[in-house]
Amino acid sequence: MMAALVLLMEALADATKLMGVAQKTCLPGQRIGVVVVDAGSPMALDEFGKLGIDEAWDLRGGDSATQADFLASLIRECRPQLVLGSHVAGSAELLAQTAAILQCSYAPGCIRLERTAEDSFVLGRPCLQGRAYAEMAFSGDGPIIVAVDPVAFWPAREGPGRPVEVHHVQLCEPTSRRKVLEVILGDPAQLDLSDADLILAGGAGMGSREAFETLAELASALEGALGASRVAVDRGWATRDRQIGQTGRSVSPRVYVAWGISGATQHLAGVRSWERLIAVNNDPDAPIFRFADVQVLADAPSLAKVMLDALATRQTARQESEVGR
Ligand SMILES: Cc1cc2nc3c(=O)[nH]c(=O)nc-3n(C[C@H](O)[C@H](O)[C@H](O)COP(=O)(O)OP(=O)(O)OC[C@H]3O[C@@H](n4cnc5c(N)ncnc54)[C@H](O)[C@@H]3O)c2cc1C
Repeated sequence: MMAALVLLMEALADATKLMGVAQKTCLPGQRIGVVVVDAGSPMALDEFGKLGIDEAWDLRGGDSATQADFLASLIRECRPQLVLGSHVAGSAELLAQTAAILQCSYAPGCIRLERTAEDSFVLGRPCLQGRAYAEMAFSGDGPIIVAVDPVAFWPAREGPGRPVEVHHVQLCEPTSRRKVLEVILGDPAQLDLSDADLILAGGAGMGSREAFETLAELASALEGALGASRVAVDRGWATRDRQIGQTGRSVSPRVYVAWGISGATQHLAGVRSWERLIAVNNDPDAPIFRFADVQVLADAPSLAKVMLDALATRQTARQESEVGR
């Protein structure tokens, strides 16, 4: 029986962290394998020996369904106790599909993973939008498929190295009955707030439902998500699922633009992190300006309208020039 099978895909920087988790949970003498999908690895396969890897599969081609079929058959053959991957889009999807094929346990987004006995593990993960933390105990032969958040783990220690048995696998083009017919993109303003890179959040300073609708259109045009303060939600300008803060959602966008929001602690408690916080407010002493990287002293509803009109004018000019070509 193998201790762990590690899946490496697009998250190159996560490779040594995943190996670190495998090393930490492995019992002496147990083997560790790695499956590298479409060369998604920062190092050559035979160098994995330094990280305690015994066997590596270099998997090329196929789509996520055929890759999941392959992974499932490999897991049946090698019988790893743990299957580990990164909790990022592609590998999380592949791990979930594989778990569905095998009808086995799948734990996404784990920030704790420890072996508690020969055949028992404890896993921990945030839940309820990060407002609670759950721990789960697993025992038995497995496999348990786990998508970990690599930020929470230490990288692998390099050892003297050992020979790695490398297998090259070329998957045929999809043989699976599953087929993606069409990808339909939703309205960006309705994006799940926790996934959004750009959030335009409006508060009481937007002044009216109409102004809030303009803000929603602007968010859509900029491919961002719409957020709101509790006051804006209480006034019926936005739905409850848009509320950010202590009693609303927690978010970590790259850019957060606060429109007519004062910056109360209960609101900012929900803005966990940001690269740029831009605040639009007509009061130079607004508390939010103390946190903002960019302070815009302006009338928020008017500025939203001006920006939306400017974007529409630019869009029309672009379409006309394309037609004229
Ligand atoms: C237990 C508890 C939990 C709470 N949970 C939350 C929560 O989850 N989320 C949340 O948001 N709040 C929450 N609150 C409420 C919070 O304390 C604030 O009351 C709320 O965040 C204020 O919302 P606001 O900034 O939109 O409104 P205000 O505080 O009224 O601020 C409006 C801002 O808009 C500016 N402004 C006014 N007119 C204009 C204009 N024309 N142009 C530009 N700027 C303008 C003003 O200068 C002001 O800074 C909670 C409160 C409690 C007690």
